[in-house]
Amino acid sequence: MSYFIFYKKLGFLNIEGLFLHSQRIKMFESKNPLRTPISDLGEFGLIEHLTKNVKINQATTVKGIGDDAAVISSEKDMLQVVSTDLLVEGVHFDLSYMPLKHLGYKAVMVNLSDIYAMNAEAKQITVSIAVSNRFPVEALEELYDGIQTATKIYNVDLVGGDTTSSTSGLVISITALGTVTKEKIVYRNGAKENDLLVVTGDLGAAYLGLQVLEREKQVFEANPNAQPELDNYTYLVERQLKPEARKDIPKLLEDLEVVPTSMIDISDGLSSEIIHLCKSSEMGCNLYEDKIPLDPQVISTCEEFELDSTTIALSGGEDYELLFTISTEDFPKIKANPNLTVIGHITNKKEGMHLITRADTKIPLIARGWNSMKEE
Ligand code: ADP
Ligand code: MG
Repeated sequence: MSYFIFYKKLGFLNIEGLFLHSQRIKMFESKNPLRTPISDLGEFGLIEHLTKNVKINQATTVKGIGDDAAVISSEKDMLQVVSTDLLVEGVHFDLSYMPLKHLGYKAVMVNLSDIYAMNAEAKQITVSIAVSNRFPVEALEELYDGIQTATKIYNVDLVGGDTTSSTSGLVISITALGTVTKEKIVYRNGAKENDLLVVTGDLGAAYLGLQVLEREKQVFEANPNAQPELDNYTYLVERQLKPEARKDIPKLLEDLEVVPTSMIDISDGLSSEIIHLCKSSEMGCNLYEDKIPLDPQVISTCEEFELDSTTIALSGGEDYELLFTISTEDFPKIKANPNLTVIGHITNKKEGMHLITRADTKIPLIARGWNSMKEE
């Protein structure tokens, strides 16, 4: 199996079995020598094989995999939220440093993040894949291992999907279903003047993790016996290869009795998400550079790579944190929480959207997603 160049052993990732315990990532061709062609099982056999261990945990799942459609019961006074994402090999992921188990896990996270960004609880997912015959059954087992690890940890049911062939790369589409009351649903368009801009966790690490992995891939291509040195980048690599969606945040907001006025998940970088919120809400904002939460590894790695950490936080992608606005009245409820950082406030639309730098200069926010950054 040569479609990924290393199989990592990272003790720092706490999913059992996802990684073996080792301080270093070992690069080698997959240790799994088995290579069963998909054609040995056929489409139905493959689906059956991959999904035979799937269990249903949600009370609202009436029928999961195995019929023409899954059946979900509606709960009284609950809104259903639905979100879909499509991931294409070579566009959204590179299997040379993305092990399939991680890809499966991350694909679920990307979708659940959108459900949590509505302040909803995720309940079910469907998974559709297009695969070429360059993938043996064992590769898909790894992918589904990651998917099912995610469904267990995040308590969502895998209730269906579709399987088809592809002439070249791997394509994965996941749809997530969730529920929320109409009192708690949060859209992008509710931000009001003077609201506080709040972000969860810290930013920029996933993008830097990708830079580290790309550098190691080049080292590996030049010398296949080289072992990557990743000890100083464990958090960054983890954020890239095993992101976590913020399932805890809707629950935390409920406990704090805060309903944000607007919310979005940070998939493309802070600046483009702030711009989405402000444009949807027809508002402006001031974002304070010195408030942007950064992990110490982000700061040290930016120094090493000669990158500006603010630029990375603003334009790096794939953090899967949540960005939301709250009324100033709610500030006392959130201010002591280590998961939440106030990074700015909402202004009138005509004031525009600005970054206030450490030097106290005001510069317009521009949307530069991490894709465009990559091209430079
Ligand atoms: P249909 O021909 O009606 O599309 P399929 O044979 O494709 O039915 O699917 C049979 C069952 O397996 C359905 O419940 C479907 O949702 C499920 N399924 C198919 N592919 C996948 C997959 N990749 N992951 C999870 N469930 C799947
Ligand atoms: Mg089908």
